[in-house]
Amino acid sequence: MSQSVNGWLQRDAELLWHPYSSLAEPSPVRLVRSADGVRLQLDDGTGGTVEAIDAMASWWCMIHGYRNPVLDAALKRQVDEFSHVMFGGLTHEPAVRLGERLVEITPEPLRHVFFCDSGSVSVEVAIKLALQYQVARGNHGRTRMLTVRGGYHGDTFAPMSVCDPVNGMHSLFTGALKEQVFGPQPPAGFDRPDTDPELQAWAGELAALAERHAGEIAGIIVEPVLQGAGGMYPYSPACLRVLRELADRHGFLLIFDEIATGFGRTGTLFASEHAGVDPDILCVGKALTGGYLTLAAMLCTSDVAHTVSNGPGGALMHGPTFMANPLACSVALASIDLLLSQDWASRVAAISAGLSAGLAPAAELPAVKDVRVLGAVGVVQLGGPVDLPRLTEAALRRGVWVRPFRDLVYTMPPYVCTDADIATIGAAITGAVEEAG
Ligand SMILES: *Cc1c(COP(=O)(O)O)cnc(C)c1O
Repeated sequence: MSQSVNGWLQRDAELLWHPYSSLAEPSPVRLVRSADGVRLQLDDGTGGTVEAIDAMASWWCMIHGYRNPVLDAALKRQVDEFSHVMFGGLTHEPAVRLGERLVEITPEPLRHVFFCDSGSVSVEVAIKLALQYQVARGNHGRTRMLTVRGGYHGDTFAPMSVCDPVNGMHSLFTGALKEQVFGPQPPAGFDRPDTDPELQAWAGELAALAERHAGEIAGIIVEPVLQGAGGMYPYSPACLRVLRELADRHGFLLIFDEIATGFGRTGTLFASEHAGVDPDILCVGKALTGGYLTLAAMLCTSDVAHTVSNGPGGALMHGPTFMANPLACSVALASIDLLLSQDWASRVAAISAGLSAGLAPAAELPAVKDVRVLGAVGVVQLGGPVDLPRLTEAALRRGVWVRPFRDLVYTMPPYVCTDADIATIGAAITGAVEEAG
């Protein structure tokens, strides 16, 4: 490294925006020296190195770990072929093969694939497709989306409009954001049966809302079973059956945003499988490339694809410059094949059990309001906002990198974590919350 770590950090602080950051009061960042397997090597600020298990899997993406030999090889092979070509008028093997694989592994009715650069853009495209679908059906007033409170669907404008209005800070963008129809958040807890009274009350409110706005609504969009960045909040698969029924009754399209939940994270390959409900449109991203490159995909049914294609526009009106980037498609294909070549479900179940055991003692701490685990997701919710710098530091001293938000300290570890790594993560989160919560 040609400069002292403080040189880089100083220049970063003056120059670069980080996610949700201020340049007036930049919050501390740490310099990554290297990353291998599930471990990050961070500069400790005095020229030494701190090693930490990445309990975030780089924001839920890096499921097979850093410098994975299979993924590295796939990427290098494609670099030696070609790194990018435009997707207008051209195609390539990595795109076709990845498209086929996605259709194979996602719910059966999904037959067609649109590749784009990021999760947010895939949600933009999904919403655009739903609007075009309604126009093609002659339903001209249907330009709004129905969703529930507590969701997160990305940071560009259409996704932002369906994020939780409070957490998503809609007040900052009043007048610029489309006003969507928000139902109440589903009642908390994965295990509620269809007959649960709170769930039925929720279903009743949603049904009334859908009825009242039926002529304005193009589609329903939710994160199935687990709301992620909106609050790390699991809810019952039975709610998805309610939404499917409402969509069918009123002619809405049902969009599942599985950008966070896809590829095994909640214990099934896609979270919709918990409910046995098929969406009309599906968004995937994040772990799609095993965390190597930015890529997302929107999948839809033949009915949706053909209705839009035969509609007034005659086409789906979207086409990003880096659509179906060959490097990203190659590494995504390698990542999916690597996942499916293993007993990933047992691995996720073992991680789940390890997180439940490791985080259970946190439930006894006075600062803690709730502890919950679903699949390879572990969450400790505090009684108030996290002291981010103190908690990060306390976890790092215990060998673990976490990035809490609001009142939530959570982990979505790489699937390649050993049982010992998972125990370290559980102990570090519990210890850090005890010290700094
Ligand atoms: C992260 C996320 C997005 C946005 O994806 P980006 O790649 O950050 O644009 C959308 N929806 C969900 C559920 C997500 O977790």
